[in-house]
Amino acid sequence: MSEERYFRYSSYLKGKYGTKTYKLTVNLPLSCPNRDGLYGNGGCMFCGEDVQAEAVSAQRVREQLLQSKDSIARRYGAEKFIAYFQSFSNTYMPSTRLKPLIEEACAVDDVVEISLGTRPDCVSDRCAEELVHLLQSLGDEVNLTFEFGLQTINHRTLKRQRRGHTLAEFIDAVLTAGKYGIEVCTHLILNLPGDDLSDCVEAAKILSALKVDTVKLHALFIHRRAPMAESFRRGEVDIIPVEEYVQRVIAFLRHLSPDIAVQRLLGRAPKEDTLFVNWGLHWREIHQMIVDEMLRMDARQGDEFGYLDGKALRKAGYWQD
Ligand code: SF4
Repeated sequence: MSEERYFRYSSYLKGKYGTKTYKLTVNLPLSCPNRDGLYGNGGCMFCGEDVQAEAVSAQRVREQLLQSKDSIARRYGAEKFIAYFQSFSNTYMPSTRLKPLIEEACAVDDVVEISLGTRPDCVSDRCAEELVHLLQSLGDEVNLTFEFGLQTINHRTLKRQRRGHTLAEFIDAVLTAGKYGIEVCTHLILNLPGDDLSDCVEAAKILSALKVDTVKLHALFIHRRAPMAESFRRGEVDIIPVEEYVQRVIAFLRHLSPDIAVQRLLGRAPKEDTLFVNWGLHWREIHQMIVDEMLRMDARQGDEFGYLDGKALRKAGYWQD
């Protein structure tokens, strides 16, 4: 971490791939079991995904990757790329549909990783095994990552947000991914209504115990299409002040294993699509507030990480050489 206060994803990727590596986003008009009627039709309370009746084609994957690849290479000097399937639940489809999409992404030059955004309940042993075999059969040493939306470890909040899964499904999915050497990124929203700072600390501890690889933090934003938009207009959604969000992020980072890389401390969303996003501030301003406060406190990622591996035995001095 040297002078950095937390383990940045850019450093992690540099260490992993030896050069500047950037994500290229693929957005496909898919769905998820929380929207197509399997569990529900309305989706999660904060979800603003727009369902479009368009075809999902391998050609579309290639087009999206090539569209951004050159400009990102020029702008940031990136030499390797991660094809990030971002929207909806990208493993929630038959293998015969998903595999050609992945093959097409792997065929784009310099793609070294496929990252699939999905729900914890949309990964199975069979699915993980087949995807790993597919990548091995392509022979190009392309890695696979699952990006799981967890959002909170608090099962009551998960229920209020109509997620349709609990913490158990997430733990199961992470263990399944680990069995096949698939990396895991976890998305969290640190200020969902009803959660407090202790939920953020507990989230850091659970992710550390599960040894996930990376984490992406977001502050809640209210999309115009989200089911909670109406309650927000009525003034019924409690949003903590930005200063409290800063404290939650810091508490989270301090309890997070120093080996887990942090992709983001805040999400981003276009102002025109949202009723509320990042307290009306630019995400960089809040990021700076977090870093400044960590400097003031002399806090670092992992400086409260000491609670695993038999903390009581270590404290008592038992079972030592
Ligand atoms: S946030 Fe994800 S899981 Fe929830 S409804 Fe939207 S697409 Fe589905």
